Amino acid sequence: VSIFFSVWWITDESEVNMEQRRGEPKRARGYLVGSVVALYSISEEVNEGTVVGNIAKDLGLDKSSLRDRRYRIVSSDADPLFHVNQNDGILYVSRKIDREKVCAQSGACSINLKTVLENPLEVHYVRVEVMDVNDHSPSFQENETTLEISESVLPGARFQLRAAGDPDSGHLSVQQYKLSQNEHFRLEIKDKEDDGKIPILVVQKPLDRETAGSHLLVLTALDGGKPPKTGTMNIIINVLDINDNAPVFSDDNYPIMLNENPRSGTKVTQVNATDLDEGTNGDVVYSLSKTNKPYILNLFEMNPVTGELSVKGFIDYEEKDKYELEIQASDRGFAPLTTEKSVKIKVIDINDNAPEIEVTSFSSSIPEDSRPGTTVALISVNDLDSGLNGKVICSINQEVPFSLSPSLQDKMFSIVTKSPLDREKKSHYDLTITAKDAGQPPLSSEKTIRVVVSDVNDNSPEFTLSPYTFYITEGNNPGASVFSVKASDGDEGDNAVISYHIVRDRDEHSKLTSFLNINSENGQITALRSFDFETVKTFQFQVVASDSGSPSLSSNVTVNVIIDVNDNAPEIEVTSFSSSVPEDSRPGSTVALINRMHLYRGKSGTGILQTLLLFKKLDECRYLW
Ligand code: CA
Ligand code: CA
Ligand code: CA
Ligand code: CA
Ligand code: CA
Ligand code: CA
Ligand code: CA
Repeated sequence: VSIFFSVWWITDESEVNMEQRRGEPKRARGYLVGSVVALYSISEEVNEGTVVGNIAKDLGLDKSSLRDRRYRIVSSDADPLFHVNQNDGILYVSRKIDREKVCAQSGACSINLKTVLENPLEVHYVRVEVMDVNDHSPSFQENETTLEISESVLPGARFQLRAAGDPDSGHLSVQQYKLSQNEHFRLEIKDKEDDGKIPILVVQKPLDRETAGSHLLVLTALDGGKPPKTGTMNIIINVLDINDNAPVFSDDNYPIMLNENPRSGTKVTQVNATDLDEGTNGDVVYSLSKTNKPYILNLFEMNPVTGELSVKGFIDYEEKDKYELEIQASDRGFAPLTTEKSVKIKVIDINDNAPEIEVTSFSSSIPEDSRPGTTVALISVNDLDSGLNGKVICSINQEVPFSLSPSLQDKMFSIVTKSPLDREKKSHYDLTITAKDAGQPPLSSEKTIRVVVSDVNDNSPEFTLSPYTFYITEGNNPGASVFSVKASDGDEGDNAVISYHIVRDRDEHSKLTSFLNINSENGQITALRSFDFETVKTFQFQVVASDSGSPSLSSNVTVNVIIDVNDNAPEIEVTSFSSSVPEDSRPGSTVALINRMHLYRGKSGTGILQTLLLFKKLDECRYLW
């Protein structure tokens, strides 16, 4: 016996649509289909004992015979989901049904039951459709996922994420994703027919590790329930560094002051640069730029690690008073980035140069009659230093009749006489010029020049005696030297070369003087004839001594001549006599007085022994007459 139902659908208890019915239309919560098939539907997770349907009524079975005919569900399941009550023919839920367990992910979940009546044997099929309930939230496999993304990625880069799962079926499973608010990423959903929706993270704004090294996003999956259930996953994005920052120097552009002549290794300054990148991309190395002139590279050196700039060569202010160095900082990135910077160094002057004295013009001799104020020499002083270190004060030794007078030209001085000179007193001067700078401490230098005072004919010859008195014995040999005069001259050279001559005038003595001759060079006077005491007893004449200066100077001396008779030789009372005279005695000093007695006339006279010249040390020390 078969009951054929052809029921397409029942949507509601009040709206039953059946075709090819047999018997009374059945009011049922389900519908019957196929070969004696009763079709019901229940929600999953309903309580144990929930009525699924009046199976006896729906199948048109006699309720009272159910027990006798042992109506039952044939099942191999030890713990079946449903059972039939033989008293009322109603199908009950035996235990809670989890659709997701029974049917996994399949869209529709139907359970086929086979019911049996005995005597006669009847088999009825019952199909229970288990309706899905939104009893699962979407969930991710991990609570947290980490992405490493280079900061170099361009907007539009896509990163596929693992989809969330939800065992519920259809729209009760995952329907959409949401991403927490952020400016760098947005979400795209890729719809795969079978595998559901897959979230994709899309970069929409460039990343910068230096601004934000990591980003935390929250991805939320939502199912289609009302209200929807959700599941979340944290997405940690670590931004990987690229070398996109060059080192940056700290912003100090003041010039550096450096004393000149620093020792090698002296620290000039320390520069500092920072690089925002990470690891070797941010490690800074300092150096002097290769664009510096070679001399700079010889003078300075840079510690690559500390950025300390120090002196290597000789820094001389006088050679160069400022430097501009190009320094650079590079990172150690694979393709290093480099920044350059100028460092200005001002060299400070140190007083390391003594003034230099240069005699630019110099007359080595100056006439003794030069007027005070006469220029002897021009000197220039120079000091290579600057400022006070190069400011020079000149002086001349005090004990000389010369002074320094500043010239119109800077750093030029003239040496002038400040009082009259006298060669006969001092014939040369050593002038010591001292130049001293105003540095701290001061440096000075000296220069000595010798000024020779040249002679001017300002001394007349001077006779050793004035007047001279000579005795001539009558009957002298004609032509023999009878006596001599001597004059000296304090001047030098021609100005001291003396020539003698006798003044011959027309008076009564002129006759007598005409018999006398004088050697102009040595003052020796010779008599050209013999004198006779009877004719003349005494006479005098004048001798002139003239020097050879131009103009010449001269002086006169009176010479008294006394003629003696030669009858008897005078008798000198002593035959031997000695006397001494100090060596520095002036010419004309008396050495001895000699009295003599003339026996023939009974006359007596006194002779005076005088010095003629100044004795000098190397002269003989003993003289004999
Ligand atoms: Ca469910
Ligand atoms: Ca769900
Ligand atoms: Ca860098
Ligand atoms: Ca970077
Ligand atoms: Ca200096
Ligand atoms: Ca100096
Ligand atoms: Ca002179």
